[in-house]
Amino acid sequence: MYENLSKNELSELKAELEIKYEALKAKGLNLDMSRGKPCKEQLDLSNAMLTMDLGGCKSESGFDCRNYGMPEGIPEAKSLFAALMGVSASRIILGGNASLQLIYDTIARARFLGVSEELAPWGEGAKFLCPVPGYDRHFTILEHFGIEMINIPLSENGPDMDLIEKLASEDERIKGVICVPMYSNPDGFTYSDETVRRFAAMKTAAEDFRIFWDNAYCIHHFSDSPARQLNIIDECKKGGNPDRAYVFASTSKVTFAGGGICAIASSPANIEHIRKQLSVQTIGFDKINQLRHAKFFVDYGGIIIHMKKHRKIIEPKFNIVCDMLEKELRPNSSTSDCSHGLGEWHKPRGGYFISFNGLPGTAKRTVELCSLAGVVLTGAGATFPYGRDPEDKNIRIAPTFPPVDELISAMEVFCASVKLASAEALLINKE
Ligand code: PLP
Repeated sequence: MYENLSKNELSELKAELEIKYEALKAKGLNLDMSRGKPCKEQLDLSNAMLTMDLGGCKSESGFDCRNYGMPEGIPEAKSLFAALMGVSASRIILGGNASLQLIYDTIARARFLGVSEELAPWGEGAKFLCPVPGYDRHFTILEHFGIEMINIPLSENGPDMDLIEKLASEDERIKGVICVPMYSNPDGFTYSDETVRRFAAMKTAAEDFRIFWDNAYCIHHFSDSPARQLNIIDECKKGGNPDRAYVFASTSKVTFAGGGICAIASSPANIEHIRKQLSVQTIGFDKINQLRHAKFFVDYGGIIIHMKKHRKIIEPKFNIVCDMLEKELRPNSSTSDCSHGLGEWHKPRGGYFISFNGLPGTAKRTVELCSLAGVVLTGAGATFPYGRDPEDKNIRIAPTFPPVDELISAMEVFCASVKLASAEALLINKE
């Protein structure tokens, strides 16, 4: 273990690691692993959508999708999302090209208009519970609206529910929680049934408390026995809180990121309220794209077949990352340079990311070293509210976008940077 080395041994090791790192840096790489983007082969899977015959652009209801109207979406596209989100089509509104916009709008409406006609706007001083590590763009939206964020530790079965129940029951200014319940970003954790039930049934001081359930990865499995999850909307109803959950999903990482469709699902009362509010904002979203998606997939079975093709492309990339981490950084590794014990990670069963936890105090330096060697990663701290990782140890690895050869080069730099940053940090501690 690096930790067990004397100061002199560590100094020698650091010098060796610097030589290796400099050799990688001299390659002059220019690689980007900063965002969870689909790669070209994944996008190509949906190319037929761009040239398909839309049969006069008529929805199955006979509606002309080129025109204004149908603000909540065309029936066949709603049916697809109903199957995907496990709710009836009447509880769904389709939005534009991206779920983040729906999330943003839903928070904005709650903040300025209230979550129902009877309840006042959240207003100033609202707070949110944020399972961490989490998705940086969620945190950016909350910060943008001046909503205070409270970190909640997240582990394999979901967030610390004791803490969530305690805080939510005590503080009326806590208005919600935002989370990725299946294959969480970045850890790939799927919340257990118990977690879902506790979310649904817990007492909250705020009557207008809402769960923002971002189910972005609900069909992004890499396993033959995919994760299953209780339906939060059903559980909220059973728990006596029928209006508590807003569920979001999109086809951004199914068809085209930036050219997909998204949806919000919720209780009948919430959907009715949102429908009224949306009618002020838009006469309708892009129904031609909805029709394209409905004709391309035909039904939910079509989506599942399509997702298996995604899996075939990206699972090998996840394997490469995990194998390289294992070989280079795992404790008691048999590799000759005694590199080990420098981090924790796990192979997810789905989703888009691998979450790497290095030694405390090394994440920023690791990301900096990678950047200096031409490999851009998501900024250290991004997985926490306000960009502040209290232990400076979490780094999100996004393996999907780079081609395999680039991914291998990027991971060589990553592992070399982790080792060097760790040696530096341990040496400082010995001084
Ligand atoms: N939600 C999560 C958890 C994500 O990881 C991402 C993208 O990385 C998004 C939403 C973005 O989805 P959309 O393109 O539908 O806004």
